[in-house]
Amino acid sequence: MSQSRHEERQQRLKEKVDARIEAAQIERGIIIIFTGNGKGKTTAAFGTVCRAIGHGKKAAVVQFIKGSWDNGERELLEPLGAPFFVMSTGFTWETQNKETDTLACLETWHHAKRLLSDPQYDLVVLDELTYMVSYHYLGLDDVIQALLDRPANQSVIITGRGCHRDLINLADTVTEMRPVKHAFDVGIKAQKGIDW
Ligand code: ATP
Ligand code: MG
Repeated sequence: MSQSRHEERQQRLKEKVDARIEAAQIERGIIIIFTGNGKGKTTAAFGTVCRAIGHGKKAAVVQFIKGSWDNGERELLEPLGAPFFVMSTGFTWETQNKETDTLACLETWHHAKRLLSDPQYDLVVLDELTYMVSYHYLGLDDVIQALLDRPANQSVIITGRGCHRDLINLADTVTEMRPVKHAFDVGIKAQKGIDW
């Protein structure tokens, strides 16, 4: 393609993008969902927390599944003023005790609800929340109500596989991580600083 045709095409593209930017006038907090089976959901949520904190905004993180390893993001972000609430029981992917897990989930949800009603928080991450809904530890209606009642300028990120359709319908931005390959599939161990 000649240089002038390339420039012409770029100019047309720029005009289209500028027009769309101009047309987007609504300012409010949004609900973002990172779901799907591929790697990157929690990482994307924490990437957004870094952006928010970098701009002097206030973010908080609620984690509904506690990994068995120390939490690299918490080490970094809590000293920068982002409070973390992590579900306290030994909930893991393998062992599930419905009674104790439900209690632990509701206790964690209590912190989440408090954050979702506090306008000083610009961003609230509900990491791995989707499982709490699929396992019926947490009522879908409660979650939806808390999201609807939150302060108008507060954004929320929900992560986890198999997100309930009603949450997807409610959200503003939904990204499905699709696994093309994963190192684990060929036997490579999970690594500190990469996987947690
Ligand atoms: P990450 O925390 O790395 O962004 P994730 O939040 O998308 O991953 P989860 O479903 O929460 O993924 O899984 C948690 C752990 O499993 C992480 O250590 C992650 O690296 C790993 N993992 C994610 N996707 C896959 C996959 N498709 N196969 C194997 N392991 C995975
Ligand atoms: Mg995750």
